[in-house]
Amino acid sequence: PTVLTVPEVALIILIGVTGSGKSSFARRLFRPTEIVSSDACRAMVADDENDQDATAAAFELVNTIVGLRLAAGRLTVVDATSVQPAARASLLAVAKAHDVLPIAVVLDLPMDDLLTRHAARTDRPFGADVVRRQHDQLRRGMKQRGGLSGEGFRGVHFLRSAAAVDAVTTVRRE
Ligand code: ATP
Ligand code: MG
Repeated sequence: PTVLTVPEVALIILIGVTGSGKSSFARRLFRPTEIVSSDACRAMVADDENDQDATAAAFELVNTIVGLRLAAGRLTVVDATSVQPAARASLLAVAKAHDVLPIAVVLDLPMDDLLTRHAARTDRPFGADVVRRQHDQLRRGMKQRGGLSGEGFRGVHFLRSAAAVDAVTTVRRE
């Protein structure tokens, strides 16, 4: 089982397709105020956490909050899919600007589990094609030269099943 060592200040970036369990994982292990959620930011700017037209504004808000928190020396967890390298790059840039350790936690569940979960959800109006597309983006990104370490992550944790996700515990370094 994975023991996640959490430094006093770090930027923890959750990576996983819709339904992989990022928000549940974050809620279980971190304080509500430590979590910066792209869906919450979408809701703040567009009154709807599924409004894809609000994506640019929502991520501007995510990056702003992350920057302000890191400047203040606060541990921060980003709850967004972050399956695209470009999405990770902007967050990594913020971590670098504040000289904060970036840590990746990848919730990489089997496709069958993802599709079953997605079908059971009532809070996500889009089809299974979105799950497949995000999964492809995640896979392609991981195959790039150097993987997540090559992108600049200093800690990388892969969780490849729901059981692996549920088994994670944290140790806080004060
Ligand atoms: P999104 O990107 O759409 O916000 P997400 O990655 O945040 O998705 P969650 O909302 O945490 O995913 O979980 C989606 C659904 O999967 C939940 O409604 C729950 O039913 C199920 N689920 C999440 N985590 C677990 C878990 N650890 N074990 C079993 N089921 C889970
Ligand atoms: Mg979520």
